[in-house]
Amino acid sequence: MSTENAAVDPTTSPATPQAEGQQRDFIRQIIRDDLATGKHHAIRTRFPPEPNGYLHIGHAKAICLNFGIAREFTGWCNLRLDDTNPGKEDPEFVEGIKDDVRWLGYEWHDLRHASDYFEVFYDSAVKLIKDGVAYVDDLSPEDMRAYRGTLTEPGRNSPFRDRSVEENLDLFQRMRAGEFADGAKTLRAKIDMTSGNMNMRDPAIYRIRKVTHQNTGDAWPIYPMYDYAHCLSDALEGITHSLCTLEFEDHRPLYDWFVDKVDLVNHPELWQHLREGGFRTEPAKPRQIEFSRLNLSYSITSKRKLAQLVNENLVDGWDDPRMNTLRGLRRRGFTPGGLRLLIERLGVSKQNSIIDYSILENCVREDLDAIAARRMAVLDPLKLVITNLPDGHEETLTFSNHPKDESFGTRDVPFSRELWIERDDFAEVPPKGFHRLKPEGEVRLRGVGIVKCEEMVKDTDGNVVEVRCSLDLESRQGMPGADRKVKGTIHWVSAKHGVATEVRVYDRLFNVADPDDETDGKTWIEHINPDAKRVVTAWLEPAAANVDAEQRFQFERLGYFVADRIDHTVNKPVFNRTVTLRDAWSTKQG
Ligand code: ATP
Ligand code: MG
Repeated sequence: MSTENAAVDPTTSPATPQAEGQQRDFIRQIIRDDLATGKHHAIRTRFPPEPNGYLHIGHAKAICLNFGIAREFTGWCNLRLDDTNPGKEDPEFVEGIKDDVRWLGYEWHDLRHASDYFEVFYDSAVKLIKDGVAYVDDLSPEDMRAYRGTLTEPGRNSPFRDRSVEENLDLFQRMRAGEFADGAKTLRAKIDMTSGNMNMRDPAIYRIRKVTHQNTGDAWPIYPMYDYAHCLSDALEGITHSLCTLEFEDHRPLYDWFVDKVDLVNHPELWQHLREGGFRTEPAKPRQIEFSRLNLSYSITSKRKLAQLVNENLVDGWDDPRMNTLRGLRRRGFTPGGLRLLIERLGVSKQNSIIDYSILENCVREDLDAIAARRMAVLDPLKLVITNLPDGHEETLTFSNHPKDESFGTRDVPFSRELWIERDDFAEVPPKGFHRLKPEGEVRLRGVGIVKCEEMVKDTDGNVVEVRCSLDLESRQGMPGADRKVKGTIHWVSAKHGVATEVRVYDRLFNVADPDDETDGKTWIEHINPDAKRVVTAWLEPAAANVDAEQRFQFERLGYFVADRIDHTVNKPVFNRTVTLRDAWSTKQG
């Protein structure tokens, strides 16, 4: 991430999201204009990931934008797997991508693969050769690079540039037949070797690569280049607005060049067979529009680096809750609603920026606050014994499940003489301003009443292992003293009824805002936060443990937690901490 990028200030981002259909970014404005002028009557977009890894938080922006716009303007959006790069792509990633798009709340019109169009790409290349605007080059990749020139120097024409159409057709057919070795020949567009735009200096269209493809097997020894395949796929599917990230801005002239020169709209002979084969195909001339990438502090949004974390076992897989892959965020407990809220708030522009991680967390908190029922859990237990209740005392209390939403109803919470409380809710030597439990001090046990600490029990090392308290019976619910005020309220779990539970306490994967910044002499890997995962045995009230995987709760005063979607069972509950209730990082830094 570049340091020139402006950091986005959370305090200036809009407080409330705009309803779907109310967003006013420049892309939506272009679309409104195109509908108003009658240039288009329907809006068609696509999301075109390369299946060489799992999707990450950055892709969420492209997904929400493409699918969101299609939904708002009652058009459609295709999911297109850009599988023009055999060898690096894996069916496992294809399934993962489909799963992630659906998880975010979107459904595609058609699922397509760039490889569905290999025949069209080939026939279109033959057309370009016949039209005299493509040629087979014998220069080696190194020579081609040397001939290409630099940003300050024009390129030179290849000695093979003026081959006859017949010779080019013959050579290209033989490339397809597999007669030549990898790299021996390249099909290139004949544009302009002196162009100020390097992308226009006779770019490659096809290269020879004898690699097995996951969809087409060994049918093709040649594969189309991205710049060629991508725009023709858009045109073929009838995409009206091809939304991509800013790094493709300089490729736009080439995008338009290929679309215009091939002219699929007026050449049905190139794609008729697809329609006959059952593809819904109505070619159009697409317009490419670029927007800025989503960059997030404390994160990496490069598939290559995410793969490295997995391959070097620095995390526990692609869905490790510390990963900012969509499956990692999902397993962590982040919600699709929270991610959509983030993307909506950030809006769309051409301004590159790094979004502070806390903005993402705040969006997730906001969503979870509304949808997560409340429960009590103790992560770092200390025994509290109520000495003035009889041995074996038990009762059932009724708690509301959500303080702001009655529709969540109530639940039974067992209470007894011995409880677990959070170790740091007790201080033998309290710091200034400490309002929780201390020797001789009073605190309210949530939903129970006020207890006073009468005695501490220590182990042989002098650690407090138990606090013994008296309960002010007059302060219990329904009693005259129920309103008596004390400064602190703490949560608890009945020791007899609590369910021992594995809780994975997650934090940010990197301990610096910009892990790619190596000016401190460290590589991004060395910026991994060793404390980003901590596993504890916690006590949960029974109603929190007996739940389905992926159910989300606010554990009061601790944060939002989710029952792990893989490892959690009712018999052996496992929870992940999604996010704390408040941002601890800004105070840590500041
Ligand atoms: P990477 O560089 O991590 O490999 P990529 O851009 O090559 O990412 P693709 O699978 O080609 O990944 O991306 C699919 C779509 O998602 C593209 O349209 C791309 O522009 C978009 N996209 C990728 N990363 C981001 C991001 N950080 N913010 C917004 N859109 C993104
Ligand atoms: Mg890419």
